[in-house]
Amino acid sequence: MFRGMKFELESKIKNKFVQKVEELSGENLSACYQCGKCSAGCPSAPFMDILPNQVIRLIQLGMKKELMNSKTIWICASCFTCSVRCPKGVDLAKIMEALRQIQLRQNIDYGKPLNLSKEKIGELPQIALVSNFRKFTA
Ligand code: SF4
Ligand code: SF4
Repeated sequence: MFRGMKFELESKIKNKFVQKVEELSGENLSACYQCGKCSAGCPSAPFMDILPNQVIRLIQLGMKKELMNSKTIWICASCFTCSVRCPKGVDLAKIMEALRQIQLRQNIDYGKPLNLSKEKIGELPQIALVSNFRKFTA
């Protein structure tokens, strides 16, 4: 009975975006208490426009548009440093992947390898191109 009430309450508090991120990542966003350890250890943080702990906060607030327009989810290198450091066991790397999936499932490509010139394709490392197709395109 109590568990049912708790679930109903959580559903009312969490909007659809929050629920989708939790469903795709398997993570509990409410567990984050904003200690900032994830951002402090993130090697990609200097290149991000929204820091990793801020990503969680924005999701909690249901600010989908701000997140989808940010570079951060694509700059994340999926290195799992944040996931290992989090004292609350939040796997932020999985959350970043969930955010990328939400965008890619709307057929919005971040990387556009087909727009590259033949010369550029010849210059770039093949592994980078393959990764681009795999990770940044729908
Ligand atoms: S380390 Fe964990 S608890 Fe701390 S801000 Fe990052 S996700 Fe939240
Ligand atoms: S997985 Fe992404 S957000 Fe986490 S530490 Fe690595 S680059 Fe930063």
